[in-house]
Amino acid sequence: MMDIPLTVTSIMRYGTSLFGDKEVVTCAGPEPARRRSYAQAGVRAARLASALRGIGVDGDQRVGTFMWNNADHLEAYLAVPSMGAVLHTLNIRLSADQVGYIATHAGDYAVIVDESLVPLFAPVLEHAADIKHVIVTGDPARLGDHESALGGPGRAVHSYEELLAAAAPSFAWPAIDERSAAAMCYTSGTTGLPKGVAYSHRSTYLHSMGPCMSNAMALCERDRVLPVVPMFHANAWGLAYAALLAGADLVMPDKFMIPAAITALIETETVTLGAGVPTIWGGMLAHLRAAGGDISSLRLLVCGGSALPESMMRAYKAEFGVTMLHAWGMTELSPLGSVAHPPVGVTAEEEWEYRASQGRLFCTVEGRLTGDNGAVLPSDGKAVGELEVRGPWITGSYYKDPAPEKFHDGWLRTGDVGTLDTGGFIRLTDRAKDVIKSGGEWISSMELENLLMGHPSVAEAAVIGVPDEKWGERPLAAVVPVEGASLTTEELRAFLAERVPKWQVPERWAFIAEVPKTSVGKFSKVRMREAYQRGEYAVIEAR
Ligand code: AMP
Repeated sequence: MMDIPLTVTSIMRYGTSLFGDKEVVTCAGPEPARRRSYAQAGVRAARLASALRGIGVDGDQRVGTFMWNNADHLEAYLAVPSMGAVLHTLNIRLSADQVGYIATHAGDYAVIVDESLVPLFAPVLEHAADIKHVIVTGDPARLGDHESALGGPGRAVHSYEELLAAAAPSFAWPAIDERSAAAMCYTSGTTGLPKGVAYSHRSTYLHSMGPCMSNAMALCERDRVLPVVPMFHANAWGLAYAALLAGADLVMPDKFMIPAAITALIETETVTLGAGVPTIWGGMLAHLRAAGGDISSLRLLVCGGSALPESMMRAYKAEFGVTMLHAWGMTELSPLGSVAHPPVGVTAEEEWEYRASQGRLFCTVEGRLTGDNGAVLPSDGKAVGELEVRGPWITGSYYKDPAPEKFHDGWLRTGDVGTLDTGGFIRLTDRAKDVIKSGGEWISSMELENLLMGHPSVAEAAVIGVPDEKWGERPLAAVVPVEGASLTTEELRAFLAERVPKWQVPERWAFIAEVPKTSVGKFSKVRMREAYQRGEYAVIEAR
């Protein structure tokens, strides 16, 4: 067969020509949304590539982005890899020194910054001396203000729009080896320094077809896709490129990430598929219940990044007729690993059990479980071990960081613990480092959290293991009550006792205002453990 390389360039060519009249919509809050056709985005991507070449971007140089989800970011997604350079999406929610460390480690030469993020990006520069060019989106008239914040010796500041206006409208896209790097992303690094993952053109192309599969999200031309998951969090789960392949429109939230704005965007833009972490959809659910809203255009709400409580899935279905699809993945997996469609032939009640699982492995993702000594365990749905995966869109190494402990005979160690069944369904119980071992038995923090979040008066619940004289370790449940609700530990203990073995019910409870979150919106157990150690939780002992 013909050996045609699988590249981002071909995704761009296909999407911006065959689906040139499709659009990328960028939310502008109270102002009318900005609209750009894929054909226009394609021309602007060519101009961007010309402009980047003009300021010296060459070879596989890294071009960073410090941006929200919007049309300009999509242009960078198209232009940078297709010109042979490497797109490096920087996480805008990390501290300035962390972003600086990551940009320096990756070797970012130029960074495109959203105008609204200039104040956040300016302090990064003192930790990232190698950045030579900063390109700011938005109105060129304001460039003068940004120059003073971002300029410095050996570093130029440009207006994105001025660069594009002055650049050639076409670009001689080079032939690219499909195994060369297209993009990179750093893991959120809850412990230790973040690690860089470099995605190849080939892995990106294959992964972009993932959401289009009917056993996954069945993206198609009729869809209008809202990636609430940031474009800096593992490529917005592949949805930007997948939308171009499927000819689906993209609806981008930009900086308007609050539940009211997301709900309004779904309604006015008739979004068919949204994707985000549970905290996003939990927030929207609370908003819908309090203020109402029409989300009937949705055919699917994809939810991953941390465990999706079954109660949330049931609530969306029962109250709004909307189906949620649970997905599991990791930055290292581009990131899609599995999606939880129930298998054919199970009962309606069993369907819920499958939907609540982390789902069935994608066709290109192989999985296995290993025990304490690295021995492979049976995939029988019963044995509990660490999940290991391998496949063509899974990283085989980290950038400039060998990290041998993360790999095992050609498999990636995910650090996730759970079961795997013969049908390829994953059921996670914990992150390896969050496992609670009580008197030699494991207690799943994820299970307790998901059950607690099914209680009508619980807004959020997170469980950590804390030292216990008798059992070694016991769970501590930190609960955020729904506003105005009065909750007692007796009530919560009784609620859990009906659902898990009695010995798993926590004796230690804390009512807190908010569960601390990581930069990508997940519960931060590290920060919870620190808060507990500092004595910040008013722990109630209940037996
Ligand atoms: P990140 O690389 O930041 O996307 O984090 C990946 C990690 O998030 C995984 O290794 C899991 O621990 C967690 N994760 C992702 N999706 C899920 C899910 N559906 N259920 C439970 N944990 C998840």
